[in-house]
Amino acid sequence: MGNDYYEILGISRDADANEIKKAYRKLALQYHPDKNSGDTNAEEKFKQISEAYEVLKDPEKRRRYDRFGKSGIKGGFEGFGGFEFDLNDALRTFMSEGFGFGDFSDFFGGASRTRSQKTRTRGQDIQIRIKLTLEEIAEGVNKKIKMKRLVRCETCDGKGLKKGSSPTTCPMCHGSGEMRQVSRTIFGQFVNVTTCSQCGGEGKIITERCSSCDGEGRVRADAVLSFNVPAGVATGNYLSLTGEGHVGPRGGPAGNAIVIIEEAEHPHFERHGDDILFDLYLSFSQVALGDTVEVPTLKGKAKLTIPAGTQSGKILRMRGKGIRHLNEHSAGDQLVRVMVWTPTKLNEKEKDLFSQLATFENMKPPKGDKSFFKKVKEALFE
Ligand SMILES: [Zn+2]
Ligand SMILES: [Zn+2]
Repeated sequence: MGNDYYEILGISRDADANEIKKAYRKLALQYHPDKNSGDTNAEEKFKQISEAYEVLKDPEKRRRYDRFGKSGIKGGFEGFGGFEFDLNDALRTFMSEGFGFGDFSDFFGGASRTRSQKTRTRGQDIQIRIKLTLEEIAEGVNKKIKMKRLVRCETCDGKGLKKGSSPTTCPMCHGSGEMRQVSRTIFGQFVNVTTCSQCGGEGKIITERCSSCDGEGRVRADAVLSFNVPAGVATGNYLSLTGEGHVGPRGGPAGNAIVIIEEAEHPHFERHGDDILFDLYLSFSQVALGDTVEVPTLKGKAKLTIPAGTQSGKILRMRGKGIRHLNEHSAGDQLVRVMVWTPTKLNEKEKDLFSQLATFENMKPPKGDKSFFKKVKEALFE
């Protein structure tokens, strides 16, 4: 970057007062220390911009600068106590400009206000997806999942240090783990505390690293995660297992394992909330005469009575045979939808019997009786 004031502001030598002001405002907002926390290059640039502006905005100083260069204005800063234009001077220039709120619309949003992290860095969370069958969901289940995660290095006991060596005080922050920077803005004075970039907030740095973990204090290892999934969970539910994630670097606490539940499709059952629906195919004789049949449930086979005269589509309810409600002892029901099986290939004898049956008026659905069908519909869900 050039040393010339015009170059610093990126303007021509014959720029008018308005152009100088515009150039300064744009650059000052860009390089303001509040927006570039800890960036010493930006701070230096901010000082240079402010210094250049302080001179060029004043016609008398500008004239002297144009004629004699910087020596022409040496000691000429009223109230600035000499030529050394420091950060406080720059911030004063910035404040005296009376920026409007519009100029700051996203100014503070971008500013880093990170609190000091003297506490150790926490390890990352681990996300695990598991598929559960309806049977598992109905009663709850214990799951064991194999995985790899970062665990404490045993060679160095998680400290990251080579045996016999000790960490040294961070030369940048002198052990405090944080960097403080005072900045003033039109909103007042801020003490900007940031985490020391050299030691990451730990206040100490490792010069001789443990060879097993390369100073990280943690290594990758196999683990088996065992946990209980409660009954009644659904796709998208998740469990957060505290402390079962990766451990943090150099003795930092472990993150969590997040187990995301997914429900596997079932070959026979359809889930409706905590009820499950099962389609049961019966012969015409079974629904006409009534029967007792075995139906599959989520907990093995169970007997179900089919009343004589059961209509096709009727739903029979098996209470408590569904999925246990989440965090409750009661459970949903199994809904059995009766479907009448129509035979497709009939031999001569069967054809003959059906033909005989067909002659009976009682075999035919009643004609035009809307109220009857309405009653049937209502009776399908009870
Ligand atoms: Zn180690
Ligand atoms: Zn440090």
